[in-house]
Amino acid sequence: MEHNLILYNTRSRRKEKFQPLHPPLVGIYVCGPTVYGEAHLGHARPAITFDMVYRYLMHLGYKVRYVRNITDVGHLEHDADAGEDKIAKRARLEQLEPMEVAQYYANNYHRNMSQLNVLPPSIEPLASGHILDQIDTIKKIFKAGYAYEANGSVYFDVRHYNEKYDYGKLSGRVVDDLIMETRELEGQEEKRFPADFALWKSARPEHIMRWPSPWSIGFPGWHLECSVMGAKYLGIPFDIHGGGMDLLFPHHESEIAQTVAAYGVDPVKYWMHNNMITLNGQKMGKSLGNAISLDDFFAGNHTLLDKPYSPMTIRFFMLQAHYRSTLDFSNEALQAAEKGLKRLFQGMEILNHLTPAATSTAGTKELQQKCYEAMDDDFNSPVVIATLFEAIRIINLVNDKKESLTGDDITLLKKLFADFVYEILGLREDKAGDQSELIQHLMDAFIAIRQQARDKKDFAMADRIRSELARLGITINDTKEGAVWSIEK
Ligand code: ZN
Repeated sequence: MEHNLILYNTRSRRKEKFQPLHPPLVGIYVCGPTVYGEAHLGHARPAITFDMVYRYLMHLGYKVRYVRNITDVGHLEHDADAGEDKIAKRARLEQLEPMEVAQYYANNYHRNMSQLNVLPPSIEPLASGHILDQIDTIKKIFKAGYAYEANGSVYFDVRHYNEKYDYGKLSGRVVDDLIMETRELEGQEEKRFPADFALWKSARPEHIMRWPSPWSIGFPGWHLECSVMGAKYLGIPFDIHGGGMDLLFPHHESEIAQTVAAYGVDPVKYWMHNNMITLNGQKMGKSLGNAISLDDFFAGNHTLLDKPYSPMTIRFFMLQAHYRSTLDFSNEALQAAEKGLKRLFQGMEILNHLTPAATSTAGTKELQQKCYEAMDDDFNSPVVIATLFEAIRIINLVNDKKESLTGDDITLLKKLFADFVYEILGLREDKAGDQSELIQHLMDAFIAIRQQARDKKDFAMADRIRSELARLGITINDTKEGAVWSIEK
């Protein structure tokens, strides 16, 4: 089958025909997680979006090198006052190496990604493993005249760069307007221009993660690692750079500027950005108290959640929206997705038991083409899913003896599901989801029995329940609202 994949390039702000630079090779770089906290819903959308892109390109026969980094430098610091984040506090109280903390959250992220059936990337470089490469790139930017030093920190000279190139061509920002927009307060007094960004930061005494450099003992700026690791593993220019819309500016804009300044090469042919997630119509954020971790989603462990939602429910729900649309999470919408997913797999199971007829009364041939056309049109997964449900509708009609399908048509539908449900959309039946629901029900039962024991003043029994659960790593805490439980991770 001929394919004509079209994708929306954020750079040109229009759909373009996908023509890889070195077919059949395709290079993709996607900004990965910072590993200073648990993976939450915001991490799931870029991971699932670019997993779908990765899977589809491989399905089309491309040889894809997918690079997704891990940001493990730059933020981890001691801070004794109330603002101390829990990771820094953990490192201090439990006397952990900072890299142990980063590894812990990287493991947590990998476990969540595997639950979401997100394929591991081809290369997953750590920022901390590429400090020398980053220092080398800073030297090149210096040599080209687009960097300056102040008190051991090194900044990118945005205004000077903008005299020759266009800082803002990706995000559409205008450099003169950036004076008002910049939010980075730290180091402002050292900068020549408010929108200048750090390539290297001199570390304050309390900063744990630090490396020697020609300028100071410190750590690289965040934007730099992606420029450096993208160029190192994919070469420049490379085909696709992905990430969330929130990274468009200043992160991706600055990535372009750094690579152009150091090498004179515009690094990326196609920029792809997934849109953002809201929760009950609200932006998500730690300060808003609604940044729910994926573990809590899977366990139903948050006051905003009516029940646990399985990883596949979340994956399916995300793919029901186009990646460039905003997506609002609510209990109602998730429960509808859960039902839809169940109906999809039930229909696929019915298909396995249909009796072939001599003639087909229902059309199935165009379904496959519709699915490919949708994927070729900027990865339009909602249209693919709608088409799969058309197939399910036909299957149910055949099952009710209202329509009939030949053996060939049944085989064709099986191939459709194998390709699009399993391989391209990466969906699977979710036994783990049922398990987290089961755990929730078991815990409800244990807590009710323990409460009964306490009401009868049978404290020995109540304590035994608590200690037996503690042995399994489950903690029960009594609060004003009643007993709450958590699983030690
Ligand atoms: Zn990045």
